Amino acid sequence: MTSPEHTQLLILGAGPAGLAAGLYAARADLAPIILTGPELGGQVAITYIVENYPGFPEGVEGPNLVNRFKEQAEKFGARLVLDTATAVDFSQRPFRIRTTKTEYTADTVIVATGATAKQLEIPGEDELIGMGVSYCATCDGHFFKGMDIMVVGGGDSALEEALFLTRYANSVTIVHRRNRLRAGPLLQKRAREHPKIRFLMDTVVTEILGEDMVEGVRLRHVPTGEEREHPIAGVFIFIGYHPNTDLFEGQLTLDERGYIAVDKHMHTNIPGVFAAGEVADSRYRQVITSAGMGAAAAMEAIHFLEDTEKLP
Ligand code: NAP
Repeated sequence: MTSPEHTQLLILGAGPAGLAAGLYAARADLAPIILTGPELGGQVAITYIVENYPGFPEGVEGPNLVNRFKEQAEKFGARLVLDTATAVDFSQRPFRIRTTKTEYTADTVIVATGATAKQLEIPGEDELIGMGVSYCATCDGHFFKGMDIMVVGGGDSALEEALFLTRYANSVTIVHRRNRLRAGPLLQKRAREHPKIRFLMDTVVTEILGEDMVEGVRLRHVPTGEEREHPIAGVFIFIGYHPNTDLFEGQLTLDERGYIAVDKHMHTNIPGVFAAGEVADSRYRQVITSAGMGAAAAMEAIHFLEDTEKLP
């Protein structure tokens, strides 16, 4: 059996946090390896347009922004590998990381595995994913040209994606479980003023209906308990995210919501293991904050390697 490849820094995840960490570490000559995981670019790669990343006053398409991050990290010597970690062992040094294809040892690790869309966990949802149930407006919006569709959720994601979906759909009905939206005032104003958007407040979806394709939903009006069926061609669900931490359970300390607990310098409970981006941030979830956390984690990894005399 061949021995595992050794690296000073292994970065798990290639969204804004992982790629920014890779850029900073590469510029410090660490030749970091970045395992992309199943989704190169993370959530921003499936975001139609990013309007709040500084330096792009006209906005920038998510995939384009990610490509620029990637190009810049590679230019300085970061190596992106299309592979996914399947097991980690942080109890011994160097750390050991098994992937679908091989095994690595690493002096330091930055966990930037991001977060995944939450499901409603109602009947019909799993069965009809890809058949009218979606968690990605940019990926699936164009399938719904001229149709009536529904968005579930009342936060920034739900309203932002509902506004995006108006490009294709005949109408977008936002279903929210309370009578007050959680989204910020600017998005609320844009959504309320949009002629194709309507709201069903105090309402939950209890079942997604259809044989091979979504044909409708069962709705419950929360204050009265009244149930009814509502025909609809597509259901887009944006009810928040959960962090991708399964690999690290029992090794890294998680907070009460399951996110990796880090101090303000991105240190986890294990010296030499850092975390950055949405896997460690339930609050901001922005490209700029994730990239900032990634840069900070890389600088901390560099200090750690210097302090432990792994760097000259
Ligand atoms: P979020 O703020 O947690 O909102 C989730 C929404 O889904 C809430 O309205 C919540 O209802 C609803 N919800 C949760 N579980 C539900 C369930 N089981 N059934 C029905 N509804 C459910 O998530 P998010 O919108 O993804 O935003 C997360 C963070 O990213 C926020 O900090 C947000 O500001 C940020 N973000 C910012 C932008 C931007 O700046 N342009 C864009 C996207 C996201 P309740 O309100 O009743 O809890």
